[in-house]
Amino acid sequence: MSSTKAYAALDTTSPLVPYTIERRDPKPHDVQIQILFCGVCHSDLHFVKNDWGMSTYPLVPGHEIVGKVTAVGDHVKKFKVGDLAGIGCLVDSCRDCDNCKEGLEQYCTNGWVGTYGGQEKDGSGATHGGYSKSILAHEDFVLKISEKLDLAAAAPLLCAGITTYSPLKHWKIGKGSRVGVLGLGGLGHMGVKIAVAMGAEVTMLSHTASKEADAKRLGAHQFVLTSDAEQVKKVTGYFDFILDTVSADHDYNSYLALLRSSGTMVCVGLPTTPAQIPMFNLVFGRKSIAGSLIGGLPETQEMLDFCAEHNIVSDIEIIAMKDINTAYERLEKSDVKYRFVIDMATL
Ligand code: NAP
Ligand code: ZN
Ligand code: ZN
Repeated sequence: MSSTKAYAALDTTSPLVPYTIERRDPKPHDVQIQILFCGVCHSDLHFVKNDWGMSTYPLVPGHEIVGKVTAVGDHVKKFKVGDLAGIGCLVDSCRDCDNCKEGLEQYCTNGWVGTYGGQEKDGSGATHGGYSKSILAHEDFVLKISEKLDLAAAAPLLCAGITTYSPLKHWKIGKGSRVGVLGLGGLGHMGVKIAVAMGAEVTMLSHTASKEADAKRLGAHQFVLTSDAEQVKKVTGYFDFILDTVSADHDYNSYLALLRSSGTMVCVGLPTTPAQIPMFNLVFGRKSIAGSLIGGLPETQEMLDFCAEHNIVSDIEIIAMKDINTAYERLEKSDVKYRFVIDMATL
């Protein structure tokens, strides 16, 4: 075991504080990573506040992890010391169920292990995330990061990137698709970039008027301010596909109205209040509403390679570890451009 510096939430209401965790020594298939940068996902904040009722404390968040390999177990084949590597939201799964065998570890029917807030399958205790100096995981759950990409800006690909890439790919978005991305935050801005790179016509649907210029700079072809009835009217019945990334409670029905017949709205945002959706809003127009969770390991590597090929990274604001609580306050106010990334040298 080795003591590792980290930042942790100790309960639902206090700010994050410096904290020391114990990491295991590398097992034969483990890759140990010195964390250089870690993105700040809104899920970290949901977890810290126990919005979803599943948090355990002490909680060390962080699942957009990039860094350098510092040690490998004897059986590791994919990595060597000095390589760049990343860890996203998963560090283990059963590898045996139908979903795992298909590379859909995020839907493991025997329960996957989250990078933080999960329980190690060997019974050794809780997992701790990337707001820390180092981490280790089985090589099957470690991703290769291209040297071509800016490392800090690549960190958010490990969650925001794959969470938006996976549904866009699954619903076969491409040339000719009319895509609406709802919410311009960490996930939303990656959704815009990736959907544009896939060839879609992309409209940013945002409740923040001041984000219009940025949305266009990120590649969106149109911007619709969701509080402006006239602008919304113009895109009623317009989209083949809407990617809903909103973190707060909102009315899904008003966005279902923006789908054309047979269109699909995929929700990746996870507000706390259950949605109320009259079936009339789906039946009239054969519309679908669906969800999607991050992505499996093979697809995450595919997304990283796609982003390297298309030169896609996140637009980031680098922060020091001690400023994490201020970053959380800004996240709550939709004031992020468009992902905070912690420089782990500051821990
Ligand atoms: P974020 O950076 O905070 O972005 C969320 C965006 O939602 C905001 O920037 C804002 O965009 C919009 N928004 C916020 N409050 C709103 C309100 N009251 N009404 C309407 N729009 C509002 O968060 P994120 O990191 O992208 O995460 C978004 C959500 O996805 C979170 O719930 C997170 O837990 C979830 N998530 C899910 C998965 C998954 O696998 N499904 C993975 C990662 C994250 P505008 O200002 O443009 O309106
Ligand atoms: Zn996340
Ligand atoms: Zn499984």
